[in-house]
Amino acid sequence: MDSNGGISARRVAGMGWIWMVCCFHLVTSLEEILLDTTQETSEIGWTTHPSDGWDEVSVLDDKKRLIRTFQVCNVAEPGQNNWLRTHFIERRGAHRVHVRLRFSVRDCASMRTVASSCKETFTLYYHQSEADIASQDLPEWREGPWTKVDTIAADESFSQVDSTGKVVKMNVKVRSFGPLTKHGFYLAFQDSGACMSLVAVQVFFYKCPAVVKGFASFPETFAGGERTSLVESPGTCVPNAEETSTTGSSSVRLHCNGEGEWMVAIGRCTCKAGYQPVDDERACQGERTFFSPFRQPLFCWFSVSAVFGTSEKFTELGVPSAVPMMHQVSRTTNSITLSWPQPDQPNGVILDYQLRYFDKAEDEDNSFTLTSETNMATISSLSPGKIYAFQVRARTAVGYGPYSGKMYFQTLTGGERSEMVQDRLPLIVGSALGGLAFLVIAAIAILAIIFKSKRRETPYTDRLQQYIGTRGLGVKYYIDPSTYEDPNEAIREFAKEIDVSLIKIEEVIGSGEFGEVCFGRLKHPGKREYTVAIKTLKSGYTEEQRREFLSEASIMGQFEHPNVIHLEGVVTKSRPVMIVTEFMENGSLDSFLRQKEGQFSVLQLVGMLRGIAAGMRYLSDMNYVHRDLAARNILVNSNLVCKVSDFGLSRFLEDDASNPTYTGGLGCKIPIRWTAPEAIQYRKFTSSSDVWSYGIVMWEVMSYGERPYWDMSNQDVINAIDQDYRLPPPPDCPTVLHLLMLDCWQKERVQRPKFEQIVSALDKMIRKPSALKAIGTGTSRPSQPLLSNCSPDFPSLSNAHEWLDAIKMGRYKENFDQAGLMTFDVISRMTLEDIQRIGITLVGHQKKILNSIQLMRVHLNQLEPVEV
Ligand code: AMP
Repeated sequence: MDSNGGISARRVAGMGWIWMVCCFHLVTSLEEILLDTTQETSEIGWTTHPSDGWDEVSVLDDKKRLIRTFQVCNVAEPGQNNWLRTHFIERRGAHRVHVRLRFSVRDCASMRTVASSCKETFTLYYHQSEADIASQDLPEWREGPWTKVDTIAADESFSQVDSTGKVVKMNVKVRSFGPLTKHGFYLAFQDSGACMSLVAVQVFFYKCPAVVKGFASFPETFAGGERTSLVESPGTCVPNAEETSTTGSSSVRLHCNGEGEWMVAIGRCTCKAGYQPVDDERACQGERTFFSPFRQPLFCWFSVSAVFGTSEKFTELGVPSAVPMMHQVSRTTNSITLSWPQPDQPNGVILDYQLRYFDKAEDEDNSFTLTSETNMATISSLSPGKIYAFQVRARTAVGYGPYSGKMYFQTLTGGERSEMVQDRLPLIVGSALGGLAFLVIAAIAILAIIFKSKRRETPYTDRLQQYIGTRGLGVKYYIDPSTYEDPNEAIREFAKEIDVSLIKIEEVIGSGEFGEVCFGRLKHPGKREYTVAIKTLKSGYTEEQRREFLSEASIMGQFEHPNVIHLEGVVTKSRPVMIVTEFMENGSLDSFLRQKEGQFSVLQLVGMLRGIAAGMRYLSDMNYVHRDLAARNILVNSNLVCKVSDFGLSRFLEDDASNPTYTGGLGCKIPIRWTAPEAIQYRKFTSSSDVWSYGIVMWEVMSYGERPYWDMSNQDVINAIDQDYRLPPPPDCPTVLHLLMLDCWQKERVQRPKFEQIVSALDKMIRKPSALKAIGTGTSRPSQPLLSNCSPDFPSLSNAHEWLDAIKMGRYKENFDQAGLMTFDVISRMTLEDIQRIGITLVGHQKKILNSIQLMRVHLNQLEPVEV
């Protein structure tokens, strides 16, 4: 336990796979406000030092409301040191507080009389105190009594103020600090020569709401003092429920994470004999209960929120609507593969689907459930020739939607060959919904037959053929929008037109290739408003630029996966032309990681990598090759869910000398550091070259956004890769992850793993985090920059002596001989202890040999880590 009663993430990691699964599941938390200047209309009266520094000023905001701001603009004089201190803020039980700042900063270059010391940053500090004892001079105006939180830079500085005095660019930043131990604290803002306006300061902390889940109630719990804290909260079984012990320990517990989200459920309650679960596991009613062998595992994560207390409210606040239909993709004697469309009203990101099914001849109570991350599932272990009833429901962060109507499908009887839908139509009996589905499938199948007979007549038939494909209905292939004669047709087919009046643009958050990227809100009539990102096409575009801009939407609109950015739609009927996507609160992964350096557990990083790999597995299954997979093209939402984005290819075509990431001959720009050698040399872009890039993304993630190959030139990178040099493990990077990276960077593309294998390798690590404990020799910028002579050409070496000579460790031949270590197979299994045991005492030599052994394992295809 830490001083705040929290247990650290690392300790919980030892509890097994549950932790990782939980980490990435986000649920609504509660924010308790400790200070909010936006509510102030009269003088706030914070302390300033010196008196000609910060000034409190009243201004009208964009909604014409009077707000109080603090401004400073002493840019003409060097040596500025202006402090602004808040009133005493009581902690009210918070262990860690978050400060949300809204501010604008004037661009130094845009002002005439400025000192060279002009800044576009300021510094945030805090000072804890048991009582409100501050005076004009105390705490002293310097770091020491004050603890620095961060130097805060403006993402957007502005050069002009409009005629009404309105500030054009606003920045919003959130910083947090803790653990807090005293009665309260002050905040201070130090200006060292910026021209800025602090428009709003909100101070808050997170709480996990009181909740009843899994037949247990948990009290409201305050988040812990560290970002990674998990505060344990004991649960009490609801009436008529009792504890089930699964770990030997009997207590039921949930953990409140640093952002006020419940996770990591330990143990659980179940209804006592004679009582039946009701109200989504919130109560037990006096009836017979049933047991299904496919029930949720006892260790499961919870999606909980006390604000959504009743099931009616769940519907109101955004569980998905029912899945309208299901269809059979294929069946065998003991399995059925089904797919289904997304609910008409997803009301958020669909996290997964739950499928419920039972043998039609048996009691409905004996049903089974399984969960699928995609809108397709194979149900196996069925009996031949039997009719089963199926229902599916979708889940968002708010909870499950209602189940679909029952649909019935039959397995093949013994002796029939397995079949795909286009071979034979499925047996669908039962509900009216089933009848409707039958008609739809029949219509699609007839269309398929018609188009099959006319195949290759038109590009459109080809495209349709890709849909129907050899893999059956339900598996879609990506269609290149450039194959459309009329690109507008692709847009119409894959992207929904959104009426511009439904969109509210709130602020600029970045700049894209074709124009600004904004944060905004989208509200369809009768539906909940939700946040979106809006990419705009700047005015004065050419028709070709418009086509390139919109091609990204035509590509994105074909994808539907939790780890691929979701397209809401496009605005093409008014100006500016826009692409509207889901909003990802934490922006792009590279800058996010740089901001949060060292703040995540290895398991959290692996979870992010798992998400990216799952998104890429989906894209490669769709036959889509990304070509520009890099941390800068991954977006992160507030739940740390990573999504693959950036499907525009125009950057490869444009000759934009201003962007050194993309280089190459005329007509083809390539991000060298991320690209596989065969793609650089002869443009061989495949899912295997995406795997290479994925290895680089792994390296970027594990090094918290370090630049791959640091400041080496592109040409040096190409040469180094050609000579079998590879990036070394980042600091603290588990060996097993570096081995996986090295596998992605195999010279021969066929030897690289598939995304499917990467996902399961990462899943294995998540389930067995002990595999992540072994850490090699990480280095932020090695003196010997890349792994090189540790990387001899193993196939050309015939014995251990040659290998030791190749890595300049020939002096240890005798040590190896005496220990009987002759073959690569045996040597590749050596651990650090083994190396020490045979008498190699110099640490540098131990590391060198160990590095080479790690590579040897890759060459021998032994991906399982050996603990070192
Ligand atoms: P892009 O043109 O896609 O590279 O976007 C430019 C920048 O805008 C990115 O680096 C992000 O910081 C931001 N951005 C783009 N899309 C989103 C989104 N869906 N949610 C949040 N920020 C985004």
